[in-house]
Amino acid sequence: MSARLTGGCQCGAVRFRIKGPLIKVVACHCRMCQKATGGLFGAYAAVASEHLDWIGERPTRFRSSSAAERGFCPRCGTPLTFEWSPERCAIALGAFDTPEALSFDHALEVANAHPGLASLLSLPEKPLADTPEAARAYGALQNFQHPDKEPDDERRGDGHDDRQDKSQNKSQETGRTQ
Ligand SMILES: [Zn+2]
Repeated sequence: MSARLTGGCQCGAVRFRIKGPLIKVVACHCRMCQKATGGLFGAYAAVASEHLDWIGERPTRFRSSSAAERGFCPRCGTPLTFEWSPERCAIALGAFDTPEALSFDHALEVANAHPGLASLLSLPEKPLADTPEAARAYGALQNFQHPDKEPDDERRGDGHDDRQDKSQNKSQETGRTQ
C-alpha cells in the first residue's frame, strides 16, 4: 500500500494527511468514547501533531471533559479526533481512507465493552439485499460520501506542500503489513 496515510470526513470538507509514523492504534471501550463516536467503542490512531496536516476545513471541537476535546466535521458531523495534548492527536480509525491497513496495539476499558461485541462476527449473516427489489434498489444507490482517496483539486489548509515529504507509517516501521 501507499506509505501515505490519508482520510477525512464523509462529506470531504475535512481531510487529513499523515506524514510520519503512527504512535499507536487503540480501541477504547469507555462510555465516553461510545457516546462521542455513536458507536460501540472508540478506535483511534495517535500521531504527533507535527506529522499531521489538515486539508480544507479544520474539525470543530467539543470539550468532552476537563482532559480532552473531540473533533468533528462542522458540516457533516463525522467524529474525527480525540485530543488530549497539543503534541499529539488521535484520529478516528474509520475516517482513514485505508482503515484495513491499520492494526490495533491495545485496548482500554475492556471491562466496559459492549456485551454483544465478542459475538459480533459469529452472528447469523444476512445479505444486504435479500430480495430482487432490494438488490435493484441497492444497485441504484448513489453514494454521496467523499471517496476514500485524496481529492483531485487539493485545498491546502496551511499552504504547506508536503508532496515531497518522505512519508512513513507504522506498518513500514514494524514490518507488519496488517
Ligand atoms: Zn464533513
